[in-house]
Amino acid sequence: MKPEIAVIGGGYAGLACAVALARSERVRATVFESGRVLGGRARVVTRQEPPVDNGQHILIGAYTQLLQTMRQVGVSPKVLESLPLTIAYADGFALRAARLPSPLHLAVGLARARGIDWADRFAAARLIRHLRHHDWQIAPDRSVTNLLIDTAQTATLRARLWEPLCVAALNTPAAEASAQVFANVLRDSLAAGSAASELLIPRVDLSELFPVPATRWLGRRGHSVRTSDPIRAIRIEDGAFWLDGGPSWAGYNQVVVATAPHHAGALLAPLPGLSSLCGTISAFDYQPITTVYLQFDRPPDIGPPMLGLSDGPAQWLFDRGCLGGPDGLLAAVVSARSGFDELPHRELELAVQRQLEQAFGRLPSPIWVRTIAEKRATFSCRPGLDRPDNLTPVPGLWLAGDYTRGPYPATLEGAVRSGLAAARGILASL
Ligand SMILES: Cc1cc2nc3c(=O)[nH]c(=O)nc-3n(C[C@H](O)[C@H](O)[C@H](O)COP(=O)(O)OP(=O)(O)OC[C@H]3O[C@@H](n4cnc5c(N)ncnc54)[C@H](O)[C@@H]3O)c2cc1C
Repeated sequence: MKPEIAVIGGGYAGLACAVALARSERVRATVFESGRVLGGRARVVTRQEPPVDNGQHILIGAYTQLLQTMRQVGVSPKVLESLPLTIAYADGFALRAARLPSPLHLAVGLARARGIDWADRFAAARLIRHLRHHDWQIAPDRSVTNLLIDTAQTATLRARLWEPLCVAALNTPAAEASAQVFANVLRDSLAAGSAASELLIPRVDLSELFPVPATRWLGRRGHSVRTSDPIRAIRIEDGAFWLDGGPSWAGYNQVVVATAPHHAGALLAPLPGLSSLCGTISAFDYQPITTVYLQFDRPPDIGPPMLGLSDGPAQWLFDRGCLGGPDGLLAAVVSARSGFDELPHRELELAVQRQLEQAFGRLPSPIWVRTIAEKRATFSCRPGLDRPDNLTPVPGLWLAGDYTRGPYPATLEGAVRSGLAAARGILASL
């Protein structure tokens, strides 16, 4: 009999973990997902027609583990629209990495950038040189704002490049965000070469991108993924883990808690020896992401499929019509705590529409507008944040999720890496 492994949570971390376990052919994996839809914080929302994602997501070429795991379960690379890293605004500011080897891709991109002068170009090069010189280590960790001040970044670069990139990658305002994690992201993307910094935008919904194909792949190999099956409690008895889910309690040899951090505490707290771990997890603070979808009759011409926005609630605008979605569908993303996320949806929607009119001139009224708010989209990626390991003090009990110790902020890649690390730990323990 193969050891039975339970994975609690059918998000990207839990499913990546189950796929890695299944690939070993040494264990049988069962994934329990409380929701009806797989994907967790990266899922399709089907309440109304047409279905939309719970939030616009972007991947980058540096997401090597996610991309590899997607390939392993048979996902075609065509599901991703690949674009050179481009930071562009409606007023003409544009920085596009050249399709050249590193560091030329960035040097040429900076030389050709529109809306910046030579002082800005030298400042950008100074920041990258500073980070390279210190081997991408920031010790002690400090805020991104402090890093930008220390390396004398210009007001234009701060407002148009570094601060928006920080919010896009860490979902934490620069003044509160970890310079070390920001440096890790820059090292593995912007500074790593044009392929790593390429933007990969899903052309299918986020559940179809990986969770659904992973589930089919697992099913064909005799592993199970059970949706609408919340685990209410974990009990340890006679050397086995007993899970309260489905119709009754069932026993497993090892368990991976692959929920978001704010759901992990309730499952872990009753178990002995985990009070310090629960303290670490409960110290996390969270940041919201709200996506305002606007469906227009005819697509307004916003230029590139992803555009930066300033002077208003949203930081980024996506033309879903160019990205496999219905023609005329725009997604405006309001990231991190800014005060705007506290507005009632109707007020936020009007503020976003005003912001779009400022950028593009008069627009027709949208046919419909829909807002999806994720109040705890990601953990606040603060300097020196203590993140837990995959291995817990209870032998056989593991954590997986975007919040466990690792180089990245809360991202799909961080979640997948964590799931794969938990699977490696389990397999090594057998
Ligand atoms: C709006 C938004 C935009 C984002 N944009 C990006 C982006 O552009 N790029 C990027 O890389 N990342 C982005 N992220 C972050 C990314 O979505 C997350 O980092 C990633 O999805 C986390 O995956 P996870 O598996 O760790 O956790 P989750 O996705 O939270 O998965 C945990 C799962 O556990 C389930 N669960 C919880 N409790 C139980 C229980 N008791 N029993 C059974 N199941 C349970 C939940 O239902 C959930 O499905 C964004 C997130 C949001 C919300």
